[in-house]
Amino acid sequence: DDRIARITSAIRVIPDFPKPGILFQDITTLLLDPVAFKDTIDLFVERYKDKNISVVAGVEARGFIFGPPIALAIGAKFVPMRKPNKLPGAVISEEYSLEYGTDKIEMHVGAVQEGERALVIDDLIATGGTLCAAISLLERVGVKVVECACVIELPELKGRERLGGKPLYVLVS
Ligand code: IMP
Repeated sequence: DDRIARITSAIRVIPDFPKPGILFQDITTLLLDPVAFKDTIDLFVERYKDKNISVVAGVEARGFIFGPPIALAIGAKFVPMRKPNKLPGAVISEEYSLEYGTDKIEMHVGAVQEGERALVIDDLIATGGTLCAAISLLERVGVKVVECACVIELPELKGRERLGGKPLYVLVS
């Protein structure tokens, strides 16, 4: 698929950001290329349009860029999974571990109903901690997570193994 090649070349890699030794995968350059950005959304829509998915859950912040166009195209709702203390209503939250310390994501109570089928989307999977927390949050309220999807996977960090067998679809590895 030449769309994957176009997407791959539109992602910029920035060394030593945010810390020395890290090779940051920057998707903002993908957003500057309307053909590659549309290819990205189209590939996800082609995969998920007939899977009876009613929820697209996007992880802050870059899951908010890719999630809504997919949700609109497949006729699903979009649910933001946010950093702590951002959502104004009652929330449920899930803590997860980072290299140093912990972080948390939150979702509004009542955003999803028991028995719904969800896709979880983010720009990138590294250790898998963020997606794992998103899956737990949805499953705690009785939602079936059909699959997780990312534009980029860093396979050497083995994040896929942390998802407890949940399928993961990525465009660029
Ligand atoms: P994980 O929880 O270790 O899998 O890290 C994934 C989260 O960190 C995602 O929300 C990503 O947006 C972010 N992240 C980690 N590394 C990068 C990167 O190189 N580029 C963009 N986002 C990254």
